Amino acid sequence: MQAQDLLLFQAALGLSDPWQVTSVEFDRETKRLDLRIDFPKGATFCCPECDRSGLKAYDTEEKVWRHLDFFEHQAYLTARVPRVRCPEHKVRLVALPWARERSGFTLLFEALVMALVREMPVAAVAGLIGEHDTKVWRVVHHYVDEAVEAQNLERVERVGIDETSSRRGHEYVSVFADLDERRGVFVVEGRDHETVQAFSCFLEMHGGDPAKVSEVSQDMSEAFLKGTLTYLPKAEITFDRYHVKSHLSKAVDEVRREESKHHRELLANTRYMWLKRPANLTDRQRDLLDELLAQPLATVRAYTLSQQFDSFYELSDPDTAEEYLRRWIAEVDASDLEPLQKFARMLEDHWLGVIRWHHSRVSNGLLEGLNSLIQAAKRRARGYRSNRNFIAMIYLIVGKLNAGPVIA
Ligand SMILES: [Zn+2]
Repeated sequence: MQAQDLLLFQAALGLSDPWQVTSVEFDRETKRLDLRIDFPKGATFCCPECDRSGLKAYDTEEKVWRHLDFFEHQAYLTARVPRVRCPEHKVRLVALPWARERSGFTLLFEALVMALVREMPVAAVAGLIGEHDTKVWRVVHHYVDEAVEAQNLERVERVGIDETSSRRGHEYVSVFADLDERRGVFVVEGRDHETVQAFSCFLEMHGGDPAKVSEVSQDMSEAFLKGTLTYLPKAEITFDRYHVKSHLSKAVDEVRREESKHHRELLANTRYMWLKRPANLTDRQRDLLDELLAQPLATVRAYTLSQQFDSFYELSDPDTAEEYLRRWIAEVDASDLEPLQKFARMLEDHWLGVIRWHHSRVSNGLLEGLNSLIQAAKRRARGYRSNRNFIAMIYLIVGKLNAGPVIA
């Protein structure tokens, strides 16, 4: 290879003094491109710790990095990396412009990996680049951890808390979101009150102030309630309307299940009809629903009440809405629908947080499909062997983090 070709590769890699490309080899059989990078005798380097310059190589260690493919060739860089002896910091490996310490990939290759994992499952990325997925995960963790730590949370005031199952529903992770920035800022294993304590600490360590959190949207679980009351003491609690509604949907389904024991032919395979919003039904399902609604069924009464419940959230005046909800509960109590009565008791036990919605207007729906984003993270992390992988993927997708190497 000619000297000017070497210079071309050197420019393409963005190498600067004292680093030079000294040889380039193609292997047609293995479809491999090998670039050797070196420095001339007598070159000096900086201490990676204090930037003291003029340090000579004390010894060297040969290393290889995977670089961006060159057309159909996998490209690798090889270089002897010098160690320097700084009077203050002793013997240190010098910092390299093309790779970070302890990575087998160049920064540009890592940038490609980070771009790919935003778009497809990690297992697919691993297949595409021909590397084991543990290596891909290692890159993901490095940049996600870095971006998570770099977060500035001083403006966090309205928080949404949600939990999601991992590992086939046996374990849970909790997601804490900044409702104003509409992104997840903290993800942690578990769903007990201690997750709120962990969030409160995390907030403080990142410039935030737990005492400045004024609104929290969460489900009605005792665990989050205890956590928020203890660790976010200034916050007003709003029970997330989607969680509230899901308790009601479950109650309606309980009525249907019980009744279908006696009306099997009428209610068979109708579960989703009662749970979906009417607007989301197919024409056929809607026709069937209309027919059923004319029947004297407990399920119909429960369904009608659950539809009426929605108006509570649609009323604009808080006092009117509260009055409406009291009347709704009275109607439920006058019915013979036990599961709905149980739901009504739950509302009464959590009254302030249910009514609070009309003052705070916060819900986890502000995250525009937090749940669908979490499901996307789950798919992206498919086959994740640990919660740590799952959590990293939630951070990346729900946290909208700018995670990746800075390419000069
Ligand atoms: Zn030093």
